This record gives sequence, C-alpha cells and structure tokens, in this order.
Amino acid sequence: MFTLPDLPYEYDALAPFISSQIQHLHHDKHHRAYVDKLNIALEKYPDWQNKSIEEIIKSLDNLPDDVKTAVRNNGGGHYNHSMFWEMMAPASNQSPTGALLDKIQHSFGDVDSFKKQFGDNAMKIFGSGWQWLILDGDRVSLFSTPNQDNPLEKGKAPLLGLDVWEHAYYLQYYNRRPDYVEAWWNVVNWDNVARRLDEAMKSKLV
Ligand code: MN
Repeated sequence: MFTLPDLPYEYDALAPFISSQIQHLHHDKHHRAYVDKLNIALEKYPDWQNKSIEEIIKSLDNLPDDVKTAVRNNGGGHYNHSMFWEMMAPASNQSPTGALLDKIQHSFGDVDSFKKQFGDNAMKIFGSGWQWLILDGDRVSLFSTPNQDNPLEKGKAPLLGLDVWEHAYYLQYYNRRPDYVEAWWNVVNWDNVARRLDEAMKSKLV
C-alpha cells in the first residue's frame, strides 16, 4: 500500500507565493487521489505493491497491460508530487551553491539565464505537465513531460520539478501561469535540489 506523505511544512508555509488553499486542495485532494488510484490499480498485483515507487516508475513497460496506464498516471502523480513538496520550502534567500551552481553555470551561463529558460519551457507545455531540471550524464539540462510522466521513466534523474497543471495555481493565479512560475522561484528548496544532484551523481543508477 502506498500512503500519502504529510507536507514537510505547514499548509500556509509557502504563502504568499503558494496559498494555503492551494496546498490543501493540491495535497489533500489531488495527491491523495493519485495514491488511492495507484493502490486500487495494484490491488490484484501484490508483487508490484511491494516495489518502491521509483522501481515501478523505472519499469512501467513491464506492468500488466490492464493497469499500465493507470499506474503510469497515478504512480507518476504520486512520485512527482512526493518530490514536489520536498522541492519547495518557506521563502528564503537561498540560491544554488557548490556543484549545483557549477553545473547550472556550465549549462546555462548563470542562474538568471537558467531561470529564464526553465520558465520559457514551462510556458510552452501545452495543457498539463511538468517542467524539470535533470542530471543528464555529467550535465544538468531542461526536460518537459506531459501529464504525470517524469524524467525517471527515461532514466534521467529529476533534480527540480515544477507542476504546471492548472490545479497547482488556478485558485490563486487563475490562468496566469507566468505569474505562478515567477512566484514559485521564491519557494524553491535549493538544499533539496543540491541533495538530489549529490545522490544522482553517486548512485549511477540513472
Ligand atoms: Mn499537481
């Protein structure tokens, strides 16, 4: 059985950039629905229930045909949102440092250019999806996915992800995705991104 993780902070901790109302809806309703539907999809398949969500995401092609789509969507939703909560933190003046900063500078020139390109790509996602920063070999690069797909399916390590489904911002930003993206930079948890980079470089799993 997969379970809904608690938010790693209070519901209002990301305000005013992400409202408490959005956090309640997003975490308590949307994320919970992904977890519940994932568990229902895997009810008949105990072998799969005992795998980690990462193992499942990396082996979607091996799933039984009758649940492949449900697990891709809802397992992906559970995996993506579990990371998303951790990739955010109450606003601080944090910015990338160390190896993460080096890699961002190497790929994008500087942090502002990285943010600009990341935001531009997030705007180009038609409908629902996610914008990512991934580790790709020795480099960091941008990656976009539709729906609840994610880079791990393609063997790439997600370092930072932005949910651009309307459910992530509509209650506060209406249709103004650029305003949401701009505000979201204030609550990025760069320590978490740095830790993901460190783990991805060590693991060699991706
Ligand atoms: Mn979402």
